[in-house]
Formats: sequence, structure tokens, C-alpha cells
Amino acid sequence: MRKTPYTKSLIESEFWLDTALEDMNRSQWEAICDGCAKCCLHKFMDDDDAGDVAEHEPMPTSQGVDGEEVFFTNIVCELLHTKHCECTQYDKRSELVPHCVTLTKENLKDIFYMPKSCSYRRMHEGRGLASWHPLLNKGKKSKMHENGISVRGQTVSENDVDMQKFEDYIVTWPLNDVE
Ligand code: SF4
Ligand code: SF4
Repeated sequence: MRKTPYTKSLIESEFWLDTALEDMNRSQWEAICDGCAKCCLHKFMDDDDAGDVAEHEPMPTSQGVDGEEVFFTNIVCELLHTKHCECTQYDKRSELVPHCVTLTKENLKDIFYMPKSCSYRRMHEGRGLASWHPLLNKGKKSKMHENGISVRGQTVSENDVDMQKFEDYIVTWPLNDVE
């Protein structure tokens, strides 16, 4: 989840076309985040050996291992500004929300638990940026919202649900990608 705006110089440099994730500087790395906020949805892991997902306690997806199935819900972190799809406590997010996901070059190998549309995952898998990405749209998120890629208008706050009934909120739209 990014905070800083997509600068004109970054957009015009088209760095994403010839710079691998591992070689990006901090500004470039942060600009890859499309700001969809799907990583701010509550997610749960399941695997064949452990039974049905509904029997599990919720857990941070960062503790998952490859091969486990990721279930997304439409329950969103209370700190998300759901219209702008931006974290309201970006600088303190890891402190306030210990299971808040922060992608780094070091944990790229664990990116399987991110949604397929996540632009880091797209880049890591060699799919490049999608046409709805703000970097390809003058820094605007409107095309992403129009395509239903962001969480805008599709969530319920974690403060408004009984988390013991999280399975009632499992949804498939976060799995969608366009292109
Ligand atoms: S899912 Fe990926 S691209 Fe979307 S906000 Fe999270 S880190 Fe950024
Ligand atoms: S603290 Fe919450 S809203 Fe902020 S980035 Fe983390 S999960 Fe998203």
C-alpha cells in the first residue's frame, strides 16, 4: 500500500520497462504499488491437511507457505480510507497493525499470497504492469477503480463485523485481474 504520489519524472522515465524489481531504487519500488488496497483485506490460509477453512483461526497471511489456498474476504482494515484506497496511518502501519503486509525485495519469494492483480506479483511473474496501472494513466487511479481492481465500494470495515463469522465474508472478486 503506497502513500506517495506518482511523480511526473517517474512516469516519464518508464523505468518499469527495463528495470527488474530487485534493481529498483526506493522511489521506483514504491511507485510499482498500484494502490488497489487488496492487501488491506483480511485473508485466510487453508490447506488440504488441515481441514476446512471455517475451522481455522484467522492468521496473518505472511505466515503462510506456498501451496496453501488463500481466501479473501471483503473485510477491510479499519485504518484504510476506503474511498481513496489509502492507509490513514501509513508511517505507523506496521506498529499499529502487526500483520500489515509490507512487501520488500527480500520477501518477493513469498508473493504467492498477494492477489494476482498485485503489480509486484505481476512484475515478479513477468506479466508487467496492466493497462489500468496509475503509472500508465497519468498517475490516476480512475481506470483501476472502473475495472473493479481496487477495493473501493466493495468492502466492510473490520469494526462492523463479527470476526468469528469471517467465512460469511469470503469473496472471489479480489482474485480477479484484467489482462
Ligand atoms: S495488493 Fe500489491 S499493488 Fe495492491 S496495494 Fe497491495 S502491495 Fe500495492
Ligand atoms: S495498516 Fe491497514 S490500511 Fe494501513 S496498509 Fe496496513 S492493512 Fe492497509
